[in-house]
Amino acid sequence: MSITPLMPVYPRCEVRPVRGENCHLIGEDGRRFLDFASGIAVNILGHSHPGLIGAIQRQAETLMHVSNLYGSPQGEVLARRLVDLTFADTVFFTNSGAEAVECAIKTARAFHQSVGDDQKYELITFKNAFHGRTMATISASNQDKMHKGFLPLLEGFKYVDFDDLAGAQAAIGPKTAGFLVEPIQGEGGIREASPAFIEGLRALADEHGLMLIFDEVQCGVARTGKLYAYEHYGVTPDIMATAKGIGGGFPMGACLATAHAARGMGLGTHGSTYGGNPLAMAAGGAVLDVVADEAFLAEVTAKGERLRSRLEQFIGNYPELFELVRGKGLMLGLKMKSESRPFVAHLRDNHGLLTVAAGDNTVRVIPPLVIDDAHIDEFMERLSAGAADYRLEPVAT
Ligand SMILES: *Cc1c(COP(=O)(O)O)cnc(C)c1O
Repeated sequence: MSITPLMPVYPRCEVRPVRGENCHLIGEDGRRFLDFASGIAVNILGHSHPGLIGAIQRQAETLMHVSNLYGSPQGEVLARRLVDLTFADTVFFTNSGAEAVECAIKTARAFHQSVGDDQKYELITFKNAFHGRTMATISASNQDKMHKGFLPLLEGFKYVDFDDLAGAQAAIGPKTAGFLVEPIQGEGGIREASPAFIEGLRALADEHGLMLIFDEVQCGVARTGKLYAYEHYGVTPDIMATAKGIGGGFPMGACLATAHAARGMGLGTHGSTYGGNPLAMAAGGAVLDVVADEAFLAEVTAKGERLRSRLEQFIGNYPELFELVRGKGLMLGLKMKSESRPFVAHLRDNHGLLTVAAGDNTVRVIPPLVIDDAHIDEFMERLSAGAADYRLEPVAT
């Protein structure tokens, strides 16, 4: 039996990056790519941001890791900043998005159990959501392709159509603990929840004493022009998962909660060996230094609008290929009339442009938030050239 040393779970492509320069990646063979994928919405400061590099270097020289057996001056500082910037009163640091969602799920269950209601453990989640690849987070998604081979799933999730408020309301039962939702679905195809849906979930949660959990792992951390996407809706969650952009490329995440929602998360209830270590806190602090700034956020909004209007103009030239543009800020999706994956591969292989395919035939356009107008011009040139010489595969009959 032969298997590759890297467990073969990814269909890796021929691009093999070895260096990053701002918004470009350089491959092993010297090829240069414009990176409008950002490591899947992670490298929000690009690839060689001096502030982020400096913070990691200085912290690496000082102290990398000690475990959560000891006091954490570094964690206290970053948690305080996040609390001051958001709805939350308390923060648990993780190493990834899935772990942040896991903590959110546990926090919601523990809330009900701490008030003596052992029967409320079920979360209502939404079709085509993505919450991660752990057992709990695949169980939280209705996507069969992620379940295959891993049954049985964890109990306690009920799937309802995304943006269907009546469906969410009808799904509430005696076991319901809360809702878990991405305000803007990322992997699902850059699909924004409507204001009425998000406001309605908040109202239902209040009415029934349920926890409203936002998964902002992809849409959070300035990507949409607000520090967190919930700010667009004027609605706050009880619990929120954040990751991806929060470390700018350093693996980290966090679960944020109100004091009320976190009442079940007392001493010894949860933990992580690495979570919140000094190195991660330094990276997270350096990212916040840049993005938690009104002028920076306004720039993200302005650049998002410029890019969006260019994209809207562009798709008018290719009505046979593209259907529409959607998203917010620099979290944009180009919905195609056929599978987006081959087009993403074509842009990558033939035009040196990196984007990411998503569900619902969507090309994700999720550049570093530090792009400038020259990057937008370069992107439009490469994209236009890619559309011009793209040949749809004949459909097998
Ligand atoms: C990427 C993602 C996750 C999982 O994050 P990992 O760091 O890969 O574990 C969870 N939720 C959403 C919305 C995501 O986009």
